[in-house]
Amino acid sequence: MAASILVVEDNPQNLKLMVYLLESFGHTVESALDGLSGLDAAMRGNHDLVLSDILMPGIDGYELARRFKAEERLKSIPLIAVTALAMVGDRDRVLSAGFDGYLSKPIDPSKFVVEVDAFLPDDLRSRASRK
Ligand code: MN
Repeated sequence: MAASILVVEDNPQNLKLMVYLLESFGHTVESALDGLSGLDAAMRGNHDLVLSDILMPGIDGYELARRFKAEERLKSIPLIAVTALAMVGDRDRVLSAGFDGYLSKPIDPSKFVVEVDAFLPDDLRSRASRK
């Protein structure tokens, strides 16, 4: 079995790459191009994990994380930042906004899905993580 994953990312190329990689290894993916659409999709859906960019138009990833973690129905779902912000202070700010983890851009296609799988329970990991 694999997972149902929501990806929130305003850059179409990055979004396409993440969706392609996750689907290639068996995950089911829904995507959103900005923070509000992402929150709306999360509220309507039943995802196992959410990946979100930080710098986006409208509400950014920090605000998305605050609202997401304030929702009783959403707060236990792993919310992972995928961002090029890579300074030590950025990481602290990302985690204190409510994100459960952090993946760095640029996305490395050879590692990305295994890194995402690490935030999922064993039975929802993709075949990228199976021996
Ligand atoms: Mn962005």
